[in-house]
Amino acid sequence: MFRAEDIRKDFPILNREVNGNPLIYLDNAATSQTPQQVIDTIVDYYSNYNANIHRGVHTLSQEATDKYEQARLKIQAHFHAKHAHEIILTSGTTHSINIVASGFTSLLNEGDEIIVSALEHHSNIVPWQMLCERTGAILKVIPMNQDGELLMEAYHGLLSEKTKLVFVNHISNALGTINPIEHIIEKAHQIGAAVLIDGAQACPHIKIDVQKLDVDFYVASAHKMCGPTGVGMLYGKEALLKELPPYQGGGEMIAEVTFEKTTYADLPHKFEAGTPNICGGIAFGAAIDYMNAIGIDTIAAYENELLEYATKKLLEIEGLKIYGTSKRKTSVISFNLEGVHPYDVGTILDKLGIAVRTGHHCAQPIMNFYNIPGTVRASFSFYNTKNEIDALIDGVKKAQRMLS
Ligand code: PMP
Repeated sequence: MFRAEDIRKDFPILNREVNGNPLIYLDNAATSQTPQQVIDTIVDYYSNYNANIHRGVHTLSQEATDKYEQARLKIQAHFHAKHAHEIILTSGTTHSINIVASGFTSLLNEGDEIIVSALEHHSNIVPWQMLCERTGAILKVIPMNQDGELLMEAYHGLLSEKTKLVFVNHISNALGTINPIEHIIEKAHQIGAAVLIDGAQACPHIKIDVQKLDVDFYVASAHKMCGPTGVGMLYGKEALLKELPPYQGGGEMIAEVTFEKTTYADLPHKFEAGTPNICGGIAFGAAIDYMNAIGIDTIAAYENELLEYATKKLLEIEGLKIYGTSKRKTSVISFNLEGVHPYDVGTILDKLGIAVRTGHHCAQPIMNFYNIPGTVRASFSFYNTKNEIDALIDGVKKAQRMLS
């Protein structure tokens, strides 16, 4: 049976103190913590087989290559991609999105339309704006309601034969809303548009099946799912990845180079120029193993319990408002205390050892929608406990007493 108290033993960082108090880490939507199993994988790599991959005949290089390609297979299996070469290892979600945005430069025409949503992280807005600047394409935005849900009627109204691409996150990092991506994908495909889903927030909580979703591109970061920073993945359907030109030129991504002409390597190497984050890729595979051993559904059920518990307790605090009140959401709670700046609440919580995020969460359009400078965001993972939520509630009450 799942017990967070047992799981916590896997996370050495949870034993540390911050400002004289035990650490209570509630900033999981920004970066999740790393279990010993993943740390051991990293130490093992640098201790035993650190070498460059894909081009060495020597033993270390072959061992590193094998482990790196095994990690790709683990990622393929986890996201249920049809082919391993549809998994491009990148430095993270942002890098993955930029590969696609850059690639579409030569595939779009002036007047073509790109749809994003009002709930996006800046990394799923800015690259498309830059793409529009390069191509003369037009950016359209699916609006949201006060609960932090996307308006599907409005989305239907935006779709036309001019729509070439639709980009939506699976789960909003600022509010936790789970977007109806199945419907969004289906509607986009009916008019022949390709869809990229930003899964940075979804992959720690939801088992993704890219074939079942029939999604064209799906992107994620390892550091949101118990892996290291600086590594992530781009899934793309084989045909689309073949059509997209490479993002960066360099070693590893070529078939043959002469000064007259260079030909490019096959997938996935066409998009993996230069020495990759080898250790990171291998540790990404270890993180997936770790999460699957617990079970994503088990994780999601427990996190929902924490979400319900924390929501109820927070709402008992007078003058506290939660942003993002959709019934379909994950364990992210964005809130403010009336008349108090979120930064001040975050600072007092930090003094108590409680790590939350404050600010606009790289989603300024959402903050503008609510006409607020930012929020305090507590985001829970499967190693958090109800006792920690009680400490958060006490901390917020303390902040309220001190600041209002
Ligand atoms: N999209 C979403 C929804 C995110 O939450 C994040 C990370 N906060 C990103 C994109 C960017 O991820 P990364 O910084 O790992 O590239």
